[in-house]
Amino acid sequence: MAKDHYNFGGLKWRKEMALFATKISFEAHDGIDFYCKFATIENFIAGYWAFLNRAPYSGWEAHVGTPADFIGFIGPIYTPSKGYAEKVLALLPEAEALLKAAPQGQPAPPAPPAPPASPALKALGSIVIDPGHGGTANLPGSNANNAISVSGVKEKKLTLDFAFILRDELRRQATAKGESIDVTLTRETDVNLTGADRAGQAFDQKAKLFLVIHFNGAANPSARGCETFFRAKENNNINLAADMEFATAVQKALFTALKSIDSGAKDRGIKPDNQGNPSLPGFGVLNDKNLGNHKRSDPCRAAYIEAEFITNPTVDKLLVSGPAAVANRTKAMAAVAGACLDQMRKIP
Ligand SMILES: [Zn+2]
Repeated sequence: MAKDHYNFGGLKWRKEMALFATKISFEAHDGIDFYCKFATIENFIAGYWAFLNRAPYSGWEAHVGTPADFIGFIGPIYTPSKGYAEKVLALLPEAEALLKAAPQGQPAPPAPPAPPASPALKALGSIVIDPGHGGTANLPGSNANNAISVSGVKEKKLTLDFAFILRDELRRQATAKGESIDVTLTRETDVNLTGADRAGQAFDQKAKLFLVIHFNGAANPSARGCETFFRAKENNNINLAADMEFATAVQKALFTALKSIDSGAKDRGIKPDNQGNPSLPGFGVLNDKNLGNHKRSDPCRAAYIEAEFITNPTVDKLLVSGPAAVANRTKAMAAVAGACLDQMRKIP
């Protein structure tokens, strides 16, 4: 629960947690139930305090003098099982030792999540983010998984983690400028969808932008770099120039952020989805028909990020398993969010 969902408190799903978390189904020792999935550690911290400020725990403020007082107060409310508070308190020495050993200088907590859109905000329109892969079944245009990171995390989980951060950044940055934005993820759980079903959501949401997130893998561990694909001209792209402008903006923002995190970052540039071979069909998820663009007078701009090679040990440390991974992910997705928002402001 902590490793996969940043849920360090085993917080079960409650409707009022929607500002901080996403609902997931999880099998714990006491069976399957709905729990909170947090996109970042910062979201968990904000969500934990919101969780605690609910009625069952009211009065906790009077029990913060010592850990024993606090745990002794909330423990019996959290679970009626006997000896629970004592069990948790017995872990304190180990927790304190881990805290001491952890690197100092944590990233600043993010601004609170965006409030629901109010009419006073300038509406930027809709964007659909597509976290690549998911689930266990290989479907047309989307395998369950492709790359696996050096530390063993699957690409399908990383695409979802990054998509949640991107969603939150889009909302945060828009709100900070007095704007509202509709952000939809094609999936919010570990499920797979066909390429056409993913792209189809761009039409359903009347999206201005459709952004696909993937990670690369290679047999050669030194391979690295970020690249962004657009629908090739030969694959009947009906808005080639607009797509290329979007891909260029996203690629530039992503590469600049990655370079600021690590000087070894590599810019692999923007590429057509047939990779220069006119006989290749390209990616179903970028197909204009799948996007519904043939039915629109205002076609959606689509781009497909391969954010990095997670098979590279340096990249794994930076973005997946290292102590700064959450801060680095947020930096990269904040930059991409900025580029997307700029595009959306330009499109009427
Ligand atoms: Zn992939």
